[in-house]
Amino acid sequence: LENHTLNQQHVGIIGGGQLALMLADAALRMGLKPMILVENSFSPAALAHRDIVCGASDDVAALDCFFSQASEVIFENEFVNCELLQKVGAKWGAQFLPRLEVISECQDKLNQKRLFQKLKLPSSEFIVLDDLQNPLSQLTEALNRWEWRGVLKWSRMGYDGKGVFLINNTNSKDRAETLKNAIQFCQEAKKKGSQVYLERFVPFKRELAMIGVQSTLGEFVAYPLVISEQENGICSRVYGPAVSLGVDPQNEVLAAQFAKRLAQSIGLVGSFGIELFELEDGSLLVNEIAPRVHNSGHYSQNACSTDQFENHWRAVLGMPLGITQCRPAFAMVNLLGPDIPTFTANQEHIPSPGPHSHVHWYGKREIRALRKLGHLNGTVTAVEKIPDLLQELEKSRAQWVSQLMGKLHAK
Ligand code: ADP
Repeated sequence: LENHTLNQQHVGIIGGGQLALMLADAALRMGLKPMILVENSFSPAALAHRDIVCGASDDVAALDCFFSQASEVIFENEFVNCELLQKVGAKWGAQFLPRLEVISECQDKLNQKRLFQKLKLPSSEFIVLDDLQNPLSQLTEALNRWEWRGVLKWSRMGYDGKGVFLINNTNSKDRAETLKNAIQFCQEAKKKGSQVYLERFVPFKRELAMIGVQSTLGEFVAYPLVISEQENGICSRVYGPAVSLGVDPQNEVLAAQFAKRLAQSIGLVGSFGIELFELEDGSLLVNEIAPRVHNSGHYSQNACSTDQFENHWRAVLGMPLGITQCRPAFAMVNLLGPDIPTFTANQEHIPSPGPHSHVHWYGKREIRALRKLGHLNGTVTAVEKIPDLLQELEKSRAQWVSQLMGKLHAK
């Protein structure tokens, strides 16, 4: 047994959150042996998997240990120190998939905006703020031009609505207060070493998303276009196929073309997310891309022939990609920690899924407000049943929240 284990090479995953967990689960299912670099031993991937190296992603000793055991290395997210990984990885001949240059290009949202321009992909207008200590005049000038509707964004380290500041002020008496907060937002970014840009507000009808997959052999597949809903900048639910719910089929073709063009132009391999806005007139704008498996593709675990996690491995390892055909209708809701004081989770805190749904629980040790703790996926046989399915999922979610509240109060 020992010999057998030693003979098999590990594939590496950097990161230990839920995306790493689901990537590692898929790897095991496929007969691969994942080695995971986790921040701490309580992270979801560390709790569920055996082969882990524990250490921060800038801990050189941990990186040495990790790279000495993993050859092909993938990422659960783009927020990594590329320079250090390049340096330490090179010592061990690590192969990063996608390449670190690609991760580095995508981890800066301003870079992404410039890439969209270069590739002629439609995206909202924006200006870059030149002086983050003193952005007042530039901000006021642009906001005056855009009817006081815009979105400030950090170029780096923003996710789940963090690093996004919405300005939707037609009301002139609130403007001074808004500007004060906007300046603070800019100064905070400066401290973190990030640039800030102001985007024109997009009065979208719906937010859409799609998972694209490009393999190292150049094969490309796209998952169906889906509708995604956010609450406070965090994904709350996803359902589709969007085309069965009234989105123009041409938009699905177009989104797949955008995804392919992006992936080909920068050499992005694996599954990746592309977020879009659908306007009232039916046209599309690209919001952003995530160079990795994405929350908007979790439904694929129960709704598609091949899920985004399996296709990620197939893509980076140069296997033929699996088909992305999906059930007639599907939905996913995120289980975000309710607004209660942090407490330790155990089995009784897992929600019960309804008859058409499945629970995916991440096994996080602590329940915290707005933390992604799991998700529910559901499928039905016809698009007309989507409202019932959403109701079933919402019911499980609401029961789960009230149970958590009840348990907390019983303490
Ligand atoms: P994150 O990287 O945190 O997901 P996003 O740039 O996707 O940040 O913004 C989060 C959410 O804010 C979006 O899903 C959307 O609801 C809203 N948003 C972002 N940019 C705009 C915009 N230009 N106009 C209107 N809403 C926007």
